[in-house]
Amino acid sequence: NTSLEQEDPEMFRLVELEKYRQYSCLELIASENFTSQAVMEANGSPLTNKYSEGLPGARYYGGNEYIDQVENLCRTRALAAFELDPAVWGVNVQPYSGSTANFSALTAMLAPHDRIMGLDLPSGGHLTHGYQTAKKKISSSAIYFESLPYQVDMKTGVIDYDRLEQNAALFRPKLVICGASAYARDWDYERLRKVADQHGAFLMADIAHISGLIAAHEQKSPFELADVVTTTTHKTLRGPRAGLIFFRKVNRDGTPTDLESRVNMAVFPSNQGGPHNNTIAAVAVALKQVATPAFRQYAQQVRKNAAALANALTAKGYKMVTGGTDNHLVLWDLRPVKLTGSKLEKICDLVNITLNKNAVHGDTSALSPGGVRVGAPALTSRSFKEADFVQVAEFLHRAVLIALKIQDAAGSKMMKVFSDAVDKGAAAEDIKILK
Ligand code: PLP
Repeated sequence: NTSLEQEDPEMFRLVELEKYRQYSCLELIASENFTSQAVMEANGSPLTNKYSEGLPGARYYGGNEYIDQVENLCRTRALAAFELDPAVWGVNVQPYSGSTANFSALTAMLAPHDRIMGLDLPSGGHLTHGYQTAKKKISSSAIYFESLPYQVDMKTGVIDYDRLEQNAALFRPKLVICGASAYARDWDYERLRKVADQHGAFLMADIAHISGLIAAHEQKSPFELADVVTTTTHKTLRGPRAGLIFFRKVNRDGTPTDLESRVNMAVFPSNQGGPHNNTIAAVAVALKQVATPAFRQYAQQVRKNAAALANALTAKGYKMVTGGTDNHLVLWDLRPVKLTGSKLEKICDLVNITLNKNAVHGDTSALSPGGVRVGAPALTSRSFKEADFVQVAEFLHRAVLIALKIQDAAGSKMMKVFSDAVDKGAAAEDIKILK
C-alpha cells in the first residue's frame, strides 16, 4: 500500500499542480466550489471498492450492510436539507452527475418523443434541458424527446413567461423544465406551474446552481409546486460531484404518484449501473454541513458578494445582463465594450483569474460569445467578503483594459491573428508574443 507520491509520481505531480492552481487563482467559475476536507476524505475512501446495484435492503450484491446505512443516511439528510416531509417526497441519491440525474428524470416521466420545454442554452439554460440548434439536436434530451426551448426577453434578459405560455399552448408539452446555468434572477414557479397545469404536464425544477441557496432560504424553493426536482451536489451545495433526484410521492391534491418506482427504475437499471458509494458518502457529509448555521451564513454571503461584484462592475460603466443579480452569479455583457467573452477569459487565465466565457441573449456564436459568467460561491468559501469582491471587480476591470489595449494596438490584421489565436484557445506563450 504505497502512497500516490511513491506509486505514481507523475500523477502525484499533476494533482499537486492542480491543487496549487486552485489555491493560487481567483476562482470565479459559478458552477465550482471548494469542498471540505471531510467531504474529500469520504470521497477518497474505500467505499469506492464496493458494488451495490439496487437500493438499500434490495441489492444485487452481498456485503452491503454498511453501504445500505450510508445510502439511507444520505437520503435522510437530502430530504432534511430541503425540509421535505418523507411521507410526501422521496429522493434517489445515486445519479453520477447532474446530467445523468436529468436524463433519468426525463426517462422516468416521459415516453420517447414526448414534448419538453426548457430554457434555451443561449438564454442561460443547460444542455440537458432539450438543447438543439437550428441544424442539429445536440443533447440526448433533444434527440430522444421533442424539444421546444423557451427564451429570455431579448431586451431585458429576463425569462419571457408570456411567450413561454403562448408557445406552450401550441406545443402542448408533457414536461416543463425550469432551472439554468447562467441566469442571475430567481424563478416564477407559480407561473411555470400554471403553464404545466394547462397541459397536464409535469413541472421539473433543475436547481443545480442554486440548491445551496435554496437550502439556506436565500432563493425561493420550488418544492411546493414541482413534481420532480433535480440538482447537482457540487455547486453552491458544496459537495462532491454527483446528482440527486427528488420526486413527489404524493401529488399536491393528496393523491399518490408512481414517481418513486419510475425514478428509481430510471436511475438503475435504465441509465446507470452500480452506485458510486464513496460519492454518496461524501454527498451525505456535505448535506450534514448544509444543515448548520455556518452554511446559512455562507449562502447569505454568496449573495451579498455577487451583488457587491455586480454593483462594482456597474459603477465602472459595465453592463450586467438583467441589470444585476438575485443569486450567486453575474452575467456580464461585454458587447458594449466591444470585447468577446473568449478574449476576456483568456486574458484572465493569464493573470490567474478563472472564469468562463458565456453566451448572452442575442449572441450568434457559441464559440465566441459576447459575455462572461462570474460566480461568487468558491471565493466566498475562501472567506471573501463584499470588500474583497470590490477588489475582484477592480482586477477584472484591469483585465478588460489590457484586453482592449491589445486589441487597439494590434491593428486590424494583428487583431484578427489575436482573436483567432484566442478563440482557438492559444497557449499563453502565443499571447505574450502578440503583446
Ligand atoms: N443542470 C444544470 C442547471 C447545470 O448547470 C449543470 C452543470 O453545470 C448540470 C445540470 C449538469 O451537471 P453535471 O456537469 O454534473 O453533469
